[in-house]
Order: sequence, then structure tokens, then C-alpha cells
Amino acid sequence: MNSHYEFETIAVHAGMEPDPTTGAVMVPIYQTSTYAQPDVAQHKGYDYSRTDNPTRTALQTALATLEGGQHALAFASGMAAIDTVMRLLRPGDHVVSGNDVYGGTFRLFDKVLQPYGLAFSFVDTTDITAVTNAIRPETKLIWLETPTNPMLRISDIEAIAAIAHQHGAWLGVDNTFASPALQRPLALGADIVVHSTTKYIGGHSDVVGGAVVVNDTAVYSQLKFLQNAVGAVPAPLDCFLVLRGIKTLSLRMATHCRNANRVAQFLADHPAVAEVIFPGLESHRQHVLAQKQMRGPGGMISFIMRGGEAAARVVARQTKLFTLAESLGGIESLIELPAPMTHASVADSPLAIDPGLVRISVGIENVNDLIADLQQALHEV
Ligand SMILES: *Cc1c(COP(=O)(O)O)cnc(C)c1O
Repeated sequence: MNSHYEFETIAVHAGMEPDPTTGAVMVPIYQTSTYAQPDVAQHKGYDYSRTDNPTRTALQTALATLEGGQHALAFASGMAAIDTVMRLLRPGDHVVSGNDVYGGTFRLFDKVLQPYGLAFSFVDTTDITAVTNAIRPETKLIWLETPTNPMLRISDIEAIAAIAHQHGAWLGVDNTFASPALQRPLALGADIVVHSTTKYIGGHSDVVGGAVVVNDTAVYSQLKFLQNAVGAVPAPLDCFLVLRGIKTLSLRMATHCRNANRVAQFLADHPAVAEVIFPGLESHRQHVLAQKQMRGPGGMISFIMRGGEAAARVVARQTKLFTLAESLGGIESLIELPAPMTHASVADSPLAIDPGLVRISVGIENVNDLIADLQQALHEV
């Protein structure tokens, strides 16, 4: 797929060559573990499906093109993708990580990888000085998410990439919350981009998956070796589902952003709401930076209820269209309370979340229905 096409075109066509044997327009689900070999140790590029599978190949081509990268690898989950990236490092290496990364990422770094000899410093990556001060001679990687979850903080990818490169380190960006439709970290200088394709890229809350995208061929070769050696690969059906999601990514993201803009405005004007955190609002601390490095504000909104935790619980229980559930990025609207739900594990840490905070993933339903639903739920407070 020629990368001079615009994003909407790439999303529909990338990785989608008609099937060479039948002409099938959709990439088939190659539900096979192995491949017949015409002679000993000769094959057509596929010998075993942990190593390579044609449905996965199509997905990986699509993912690389979406991020404007040279190479992509698909994984069984976002966590598997992040874990595989971390295996590029060696005991003694040091990582500067954002301090409000996804809870599962923090758990992987702190509980799994630290005991294996990797060192981590967790810092506020919206603060460039804090990032610079945390760097040590053995720092190999700076890791960040932008926007973060659930506080939707924005970090300056271009500035932090420059700092990483000055110190001979890589910058890795978890781009799950923005999706490549809104933000392309490689173009801003990042070296490694990861996704939980479970979220916006898959987009339909029906598959769990992950991805890594890079430009450097040597790094790709190491990751490709690890993908096969470690083996956290996605099933062919899962690859197909993510590919199908990708085709409507730009349409969905445009609607998520448009709806979220309206919902954020509604919440900001509501007397029961103390504060709305949304990169599209001028009141957001990094609104200008968000406009600079993102094509849109995204579909995630967090807001703090004036009535604290009790009021937050009422809202989360009373919405009807917004389903009370973890996860995000699907076509349907979701609501959750980070403090007792997704972020319960950081309750006793400096990252503890305000118990009155409500997080919503704004879906692609009609926005007037969404606002009416929130209005009736807020009325119950
Ligand atoms: C969900 C999520 C992950 C983990 O992905 P899984 O597919 O659930 O393993 C990582 N990073 C972010 C930002 C996420 O939202």
C-alpha cells in the first residue's frame, strides 16, 4: 500500500490484496497451524503458524501502513506486545516510564520485569525536566502514553524523542488512546509504537489483541525473532476481526471525536459536575499541545462529580446507554469509576484517583441520545 494515500484510504486498503488463489476480496481466515512443503525445508514463506500466518501478515501490513511505519508485528494482546518490546532490554538496563501508564503496564514493569533485573523510574512525562532528570547512563528506553488513562494528560512526543535520542535511548509510545487516526508517534520521532488493538483499532469490543510498529529494520528483526521465540501470537480469526475493524477506523474516530466534543461541552455546563478533563476543551492543561500533535481530541472524557464518590456511583449506575464496564474504544458508550474499578490497584499510591472521578468512552451512537442519557443520570444525583 502506497503511503502517499490519505489515512482514510489507507485504512480501507492497507494489507488488502485480493487472495492470490481465489480472488477473494477479503483476506481469508487462514485457520491452519502448518503448511505443505513441496520439498524438504522448502516452503512458500509459511511453515508454521506461530512463525507466520497469512491473515496475520495482512494485519501486520495494515498496522504498519496505518502508523506510517516500515514494520509491524501483531500479538495476542496489548500486554503481550509490550512484554515483547521489553525483552529487547537486558538485566541492568533502565527505563524511564510515565507514572500514570495503563495499570497492566505498571504491573508488568513493577511486578514481573523488575525482579528480572530491569530498573524503572516512574515520572510525570508531561514535565520535560522530570524526564531529563530521571535519565541515567544505563537508560535504554523512555516509555509513555499520551493521552493517559484516566487523567488524559498529554506528553510532548517530539520533545521527549529528542531527549531520548540525545542520551542514546529509544522512545516507546503506547498509542492506544489516540489510535493512528489521530496521532502518529513515529512521525514525531518515536522509535517504537504499541497498541492494544482491543480498543479503538479493533473498535467493536469483540477481540483482544496488540501490535508493535517500528521503522528500524534491526529492531524489527529482533522483535520478529521474539514474536516467534516467545510465541504470544494472535489467532487467525482475531487477526481478521482486527483487520475488519481497521477499515472503519477513520469513520469511527471522527464520530467518537465529534460526539465527545459535544458531550464534554454538556458536562462542562452541568452544575453537578465539578471538572471535565478532555483534551478538546480549552480548559485542558495541554489543550494547545493536543491540538499540535493530534488530529482530534479522541473519545475519552473524565469528569469529577461535585458530590464525590457517592454522586459518581449514582451516575455510573443510572446511565442506560452508557454500559457500566471496563475497557474503551468500542462503538458503544461505556462508563466506569476508575478509583474502585480499573485503578483500584493504585489506591494507596501517589497515583490514587479521585473517587469522584467518572470515565466515559463516548461511542458512535446519536449524540443527542447520549447527552439525554447522561442528563437523566445526573438528575438522579
Ligand atoms: C488496554 C490497554 C493495554 C493492554 O492491552 P490488552 O489488549 O488489554 O492486553 C495497554 N495500554 C493501554 C493504554 C490500554 O488501554
